[in-house]
Amino acid sequence: MHPDLEEILISEEKIQQRIKELAKELRKEYSEKNPLCVCILKGAVPFMADLTRAMDFPLQMDYMAVSSYGNSAETSGVVRILKDLDTPVEGRDVLIIEDIVDTGLTLRHLITLMKTRKAKSVKAVTLLDKPDRRQTDLTPDYCGFVIPNKYIVGYGTDFAERYRNLPYIGVLKKELYQS
Ligand code: 5GP
Repeated sequence: MHPDLEEILISEEKIQQRIKELAKELRKEYSEKNPLCVCILKGAVPFMADLTRAMDFPLQMDYMAVSSYGNSAETSGVVRILKDLDTPVEGRDVLIIEDIVDTGLTLRHLITLMKTRKAKSVKAVTLLDKPDRRQTDLTPDYCGFVIPNKYIVGYGTDFAERYRNLPYIGVLKKELYQS
């Protein structure tokens, strides 16, 4: 385990196992729809890569970057698009791929945006859901794991751009982000 972590919350094996299950669930809904999978940079990159490789049917991928926490562990509630999609979403079945839903403000904003752009349907799959801190009534359509209200890193998620390359999800030691 990385020395900056308090504990490993979800092991590499559990993540990979759950991704296979999620891909099976998604197959039921999307196997005939050629969905546009929208990866939210940067945190969702490993999840997108593993999930889409387990989705054995036609799909397309695109990428969007939105502002998130920066170097602080608290949300600003402000969602800003830093990189937009290359693909038009009009008439497409859009599947947003997120690393973690916390307050839900980011996802709510993105879903509204895709609807404004006339997507045929908009759903979201998140690897992690932290419902304790929700500030909207939003529930992700597909979810890997519901987790407690702890600051996690790894498997794409970061603190100050660190830890994204850990293959598991861990709880960061409090003294590292509260100092
Ligand atoms: P929301 O808008 O739902 O509050 O925030 C979603 C984004 O906040 C996630 O995509 C992620 O970038 C960041 N985030 C929320 N909770 C955590 C956490 O526990 N650890 C890390 N590393 N990022 C988080």
